[in-house]
Amino acid sequence: MENINWAELPFGYFKADYNVRAYFKNGRWSELEASTDENITMHIAATCLHYGQQAFEGLKAYRGKDGKIRMFRLEENAKRMTHSANGIKMQPVPENLFMDACIKAVKMNEKFVPPYGTGASLYLRPLLIGTGGQVGVKPADEYTFLVFVSPVGPYFKTGFKPVKIQLVRDFDRAAPLGTGTYKVGGNYAASLQASVRSQEEGFASVLFLDAKEKKYIDEAGPANFFVIKDGEYVTPKSHSILRSITNMSLRELAADMGLNVVERSIAVEELANFDEAGACGTAAVITPIGEIFDREKKISYKFGQEGVAGKVSTELYNRLLGIQLGELEDKFGWTTIVE
Ligand SMILES: *Cc1c(COP(=O)(O)O)cnc(C)c1O
Repeated sequence: MENINWAELPFGYFKADYNVRAYFKNGRWSELEASTDENITMHIAATCLHYGQQAFEGLKAYRGKDGKIRMFRLEENAKRMTHSANGIKMQPVPENLFMDACIKAVKMNEKFVPPYGTGASLYLRPLLIGTGGQVGVKPADEYTFLVFVSPVGPYFKTGFKPVKIQLVRDFDRAAPLGTGTYKVGGNYAASLQASVRSQEEGFASVLFLDAKEKKYIDEAGPANFFVIKDGEYVTPKSHSILRSITNMSLRELAADMGLNVVERSIAVEELANFDEAGACGTAAVITPIGEIFDREKKISYKFGQEGVAGKVSTELYNRLLGIQLGELEDKFGWTTIVE
């Protein structure tokens, strides 16, 4: 185990020992190889640099109560990377290769998996990029797939507390028939102006609406959105949001808790009717939302008691984290134990 102040680590890059790589060339994938190099070299005409042929994933490995290392829903990340690769005409990574690479990256960096009880975890970042050179607009014929890891501290350093976010209409993250359902860097580039501005204006994050009608909630920058009221868990149905694996898991947990799970369009004005709101994704699991400020209309929607996370959100959070940490029975078979 490394001597690191785990609980104080930010959500950021921290150099571990190894990354794992595979290359697609001449129509086939290479074997996995481990590298200690933090850099990659590539052709100056690589399609990832010019035409945005790039997709990534994000998942975590946790050291459990029993000392074992668990990865959460690894095969779902593998499937989603295939979906993203197909969506922007990249060579998909075979799902077994993806999973093997993630497991290898965790094993080779085992000393960077934070101890149980610190709230920290090991974040994995799988990345697929077009590395073959093209000048005309077309897909590359060579790809690099790599997985690097970084230990990250607990997301909520001062406790599980609600944040304020900002709803915007003057920027869109993704078009209805565009790339919103793919985990590609281009969607993030498109969200940066709005997200940096929201932070400068004092908000934790930005909330985007559907780009076509500007009526319905889409998602919060890098996280999905949900609301809760009267035994109902409601999350947007949209063709332009990323299918969050955390949200998928929360829906199953909510149903298991006896809530009615609904995927439908959520109009902005409806926000006034809900008791709890949250953003969800791998980094934080759930970020409870205390207030949504509509930037253009200058209206605030508030949820629950100020400074206190809602009851249902807290229960969902504890259940999901409990499974990830091996504290609660994994009756859904969501975790992979790394041995
Ligand atoms: C990765 C991501 C999420 C969260 O997905 P998880 O699988 O829950 O981590 C949500 N929205 C966007 C745009 C994302 O890129």
